[in-house]
Amino acid sequence: MSAHSLSELQAVNSFAALPDAFYTRLAPQPLNNPRLLHANAEAAALIGLDPAVLDTPEFLRVFSGAEPLPGGDTLAAVYSGHQFGVWAGQLGDGRAHLLGEIQGPAGAWELQLKGAGMTPYSRMGDGRAVLRSSVREYLASEAMHGLGVPTTRALALVASDDPVWRETVETAAIVTRMSPSFVRFGSFEHWSSRRQPDMLKTLADYVIDRYYPECRAASAGEPQDAAAPYIGLLREVTRRTALLMADWQAVGFCHGVMNTDNMSILGLTLDYGPYGFMDGFRLGHVCNHSDSEGRYSWNRQPSVALWNLYRLGGSLHTLVQDVDGLRAVLDEYEGVFTRAFHDRMGAKLGLAAWRPADEPLLDDLLKLMDANQADFTLTWRRLADAVSGRRAPFEDLFIDRPAAAAWLDRLLARHAQDGRPAAEVADAMNRVNPLYVLRNHLAEEAIRAAKSGDASEIDTLMKLLRAPFTAQVGYEKYASLPPDWANGIEVSCSS
Ligand code: AMP
Ligand code: MG
Repeated sequence: MSAHSLSELQAVNSFAALPDAFYTRLAPQPLNNPRLLHANAEAAALIGLDPAVLDTPEFLRVFSGAEPLPGGDTLAAVYSGHQFGVWAGQLGDGRAHLLGEIQGPAGAWELQLKGAGMTPYSRMGDGRAVLRSSVREYLASEAMHGLGVPTTRALALVASDDPVWRETVETAAIVTRMSPSFVRFGSFEHWSSRRQPDMLKTLADYVIDRYYPECRAASAGEPQDAAAPYIGLLREVTRRTALLMADWQAVGFCHGVMNTDNMSILGLTLDYGPYGFMDGFRLGHVCNHSDSEGRYSWNRQPSVALWNLYRLGGSLHTLVQDVDGLRAVLDEYEGVFTRAFHDRMGAKLGLAAWRPADEPLLDDLLKLMDANQADFTLTWRRLADAVSGRRAPFEDLFIDRPAAAAWLDRLLARHAQDGRPAAEVADAMNRVNPLYVLRNHLAEEAIRAAKSGDASEIDTLMKLLRAPFTAQVGYEKYASLPPDWANGIEVSCSS
């Protein structure tokens, strides 16, 4: 049954039951003259909130930072991390306030304001988030969910006229994010770097008890070794992170800032900043203008995730003396990632099942796409047309048309080995190759409208991106190649 008001939700905050050193309790600094730009009824349903509540003044007061969540315990959490491969020391929620946690019909969700003012972890920052980056985070998390990629969610987007200084003056906004937990790899690194194994153990036990209780289950009849739950935790985080990387690669998503403080302990996509869904494909595509070395390019994401898992494993070493046991778990990453990547790419190619001999077929397509900067989303989507006999739309995406045509012949020959009817194959491909992704220029148009108070583009994108595999009549421009001006969009760490 849906709750009718926020107070009926009965928030708690289990993170606040951890020792004081894990966070600072503090109130948000509310936005002046806040306006609800958009609220997400689907996310509201996850916490049992009636959609009618989204339009109430109480909802706006809580999610603009003016009032606490009834029953909640507002706090900012501390963590540390490696940024761009370098140890950065203490970071923490510099502009995020955890309001509390709500038990929904299918699990508990933490609610967090992003951009609600300074905290003890703000360092040089102002604690604010600009409207531009808030719209991007709000839309991206829902787009990823629509694609079936594990992610934090977004409940509300609140705008204001409060000025925020970045490269130019912009305005402040607050996104309310939802996640079962916002604990990061960097939350673990925090305590290991400070050589506080007792705190590290407290955190690891909290995460295991709440999110990975199966790690405590001893195998039948055998007493469990004290280190086993922590090795089990690393194994499960490694597995989920490997699957997440396969998902990102398969939809052409670049995170942009894969620092250890942006890596979720639950294997969710976390902290949307200068991310990008690729238009023209480049193996080494770098979406973040601030990443001059290309550390977080598309083709490096899977190996960077493993590097980050090594930092998590290194932290857990403080609890688990068994280095070989930890290393053996990290060694499982490559196999899990590769199997998942091949499964996803095989399905995108319309294969009944991936075979090792299919590797050159996939590699050659990626090389061809890279050489021609073929549009990532449309290349995959139009493969289904080619299977049904309409080859031109696919071939049109390549300057080297004969090479594309020759590659297509190889794919069709491979399909012939499976022997499935073309219509069935095309249907299956259209269920895994999205038509709509949150291209930079689409986000940009929604941001421009939002700046003048018009949330209609946000609303349209939310509807399309929620069902990204289903073609909608009248929305062709959202599934088209980007306009020329899209090349000029630069996204950076400035947010
Ligand atoms: P990011 O890489 O964007 O996830 O942020 C890295 C760190 O900087 C985190 O500790 C953030 O909380 C903090 N941070 C980023 N922007 C701001 C800001 N405007 N004010 C305060 N802290 C910030
Ligand atoms: Mg972050």
